[in-house]
Amino acid sequence: MKPGIHPEYHEVTAHCACGATWTTRSTKKDVHLDICNNCHPFFTGRQKLIDTEGRVDRFNKKFGAQTSEALKAAAKAKKASKASKPS
Ligand SMILES: [Zn+2]
Repeated sequence: MKPGIHPEYHEVTAHCACGATWTTRSTKKDVHLDICNNCHPFFTGRQKLIDTEGRVDRFNKKFGAQTSEALKAAAKAKKASKASKPS
């Protein structure tokens, strides 16, 4: 290896948002991940929203839970109110 051009490569502990930790090697000092093989749906086999950091909750708090049923009901109500108005 040519000296002076390669970044330092050392052992680090990787931390996942799900709480899993493991040792790996990296040029970074510490590794924090959103997802790992312990919590990714591909490996767990479960189909669900990944919300380890509360992003879905935050979205729902800000914009309200948007299920397809709720959107359909809102569209229906809009249509009904339009129809009842005299034109
Ligand atoms: Zn994880």
